[in-house]
Amino acid sequence: MTDTAALVAAVPGLARHLRPATLLHPYADPGGDPGDPGDPWASRIGGPAQWPSGEPWPHCTARHPEEEDVLPRRAPEAPAAATALVPLARIRAEDAPHLPRPHGTDLLQVLWCPNDHDDIQGERYYYGPAVELHWQRAADLAPATPPPPRHSAPEYLPRPCAVRPEQLLDLPDRDELPAELARAVEEFAERLGIGYQRDLGRADGWKLGGWPSWHLTDLVPVDCGRCGARMAHLLTVESGGDPDLSVGRHGELHVFACPVDVTHPVGLDLQ
Ligand SMILES: [Zn+2]
Ligand SMILES: [Zn+2]
Repeated sequence: MTDTAALVAAVPGLARHLRPATLLHPYADPGGDPGDPGDPWASRIGGPAQWPSGEPWPHCTARHPEEEDVLPRRAPEAPAAATALVPLARIRAEDAPHLPRPHGTDLLQVLWCPNDHDDIQGERYYYGPAVELHWQRAADLAPATPPPPRHSAPEYLPRPCAVRPEQLLDLPDRDELPAELARAVEEFAERLGIGYQRDLGRADGWKLGGWPSWHLTDLVPVDCGRCGARMAHLLTVESGGDPDLSVGRHGELHVFACPVDVTHPVGLDLQ
């Protein structure tokens, strides 16, 4: 029995805080090369892009703070020029079967605008890329060549990576547990001479589902801007490693999804 399994067995009530998660374990691969023998439809980070043929590639029309410095001043009422989004992750449902998804879809594409945004609706303390989720059917996708983003921050352009999905059950940070359970898990860890957060709890890394970390700020509940429901962690984007991104202060970006309707706009948090 692992220490985590022993912990869950020893602390009554803890089991209902377990959430299914998928660690992605991205690794650099030459998947962007046309001659690559790998499965072109597998889950991955970054390009190459695939999109339903006939559907326009999504663009961001926000004003980007870093662009305001380098472009000639525009009249305030002039619309910002659109910037093409870039593929961040493509996830087949079978690699994360625990994720909620609209009926009839079997694939999630996460796109983002590779620029900073300080005025995303409903995000008060956020400064980073704008994220969109697109649930699709793999059978509808075809190789696509989206236009390059008109402007981008290099730290938000992922290096193409394959993934090795690993399913697990994730435990929350101590702050998310009721006080008596938080005490019980700490006491259990102390008896083993280890730390709950460090050794037993939440899994780190690129992750779908499960629990987010709150290592930088205290716990900040994330509610849906559309319907008010408490949102659930959908994706952690980690800085460094083979995808070679840097989010926040070389931290991690959490994307939250609405449990009532996954097509409601995402919640975002940087740690
Ligand atoms: Zn943008
Ligand atoms: Zn909602």
